[in-house]
Amino acid sequence: MDISQRISILRQSVPDNVTVVAVSKTKPIAEMIKAYNAGLRNFGENKAQEIAVKQPQMPSDTIWHFIGHLQTNKVKLIAPFIHLIHSVDSVNLLKEINKEAIKNSRVIDCLLQFYIATEETKFGLDIQESREILDNLSSLNLNNVRVTGVMGMASFSDNLNLIRLEFNSLRFIFELLKTEYFSHSIYFKEISMGMSGDYRIAIEEGSTMVRIGTSIFGEALRNIQK
Ligand SMILES: *Cc1c(COP(=O)(O)O)cnc(C)c1O
Repeated sequence: MDISQRISILRQSVPDNVTVVAVSKTKPIAEMIKAYNAGLRNFGENKAQEIAVKQPQMPSDTIWHFIGHLQTNKVKLIAPFIHLIHSVDSVNLLKEINKEAIKNSRVIDCLLQFYIATEETKFGLDIQESREILDNLSSLNLNNVRVTGVMGMASFSDNLNLIRLEFNSLRFIFELLKTEYFSHSIYFKEISMGMSGDYRIAIEEGSTMVRIGTSIFGEALRNIQK
């Protein structure tokens, strides 16, 4: 099966109101162009250097997402063009994104990343930590960042009930923060959850944005380059 065939299969199970972010980390530009030509515009990367090298090589209407752990000293590499940073987990990072957004005369959209998995060491906030960030936000005058929603990764597990519970908890967090902090905002609307193995469950649990690598590009390069 080639990339365009995989994308058309994917399309059948993703409603139009859910954004597909093609996760192209480690994939060459030629593969990304195939996905672009099949109609995808949103691409996600998890390394600042890699996305900065790829960005000038892709068509100018490519929409870039950052989905990995972001170090503050790398923000400047992506600030000129990034559309959405999915992985904000500290006030310091938000301050840095704001600073670089000002330099580029931009407002940069961000999601708060939550730790929802019951296993292993994934990055992310809990509710209390997110409240501390959001309590600070208005007094810090970070006018060039906009928090537009939440992101999370479910456990890597065969237990579909567990995965569903974890996605459900992210949906709950989204609704809670919406009520507590964003009830008047039209921008706070994204729930980034779901990957190749679990996006169907994520969509059933309210995902607005799925991040799909393997089901678009196949597995080939991942293991080699890891
Ligand atoms: C790699 C990655 C994905 C895509 O994973 P697949 O299982 O290949 O679809 C999604 N989200 C994040 C944060 C990733 O690092």
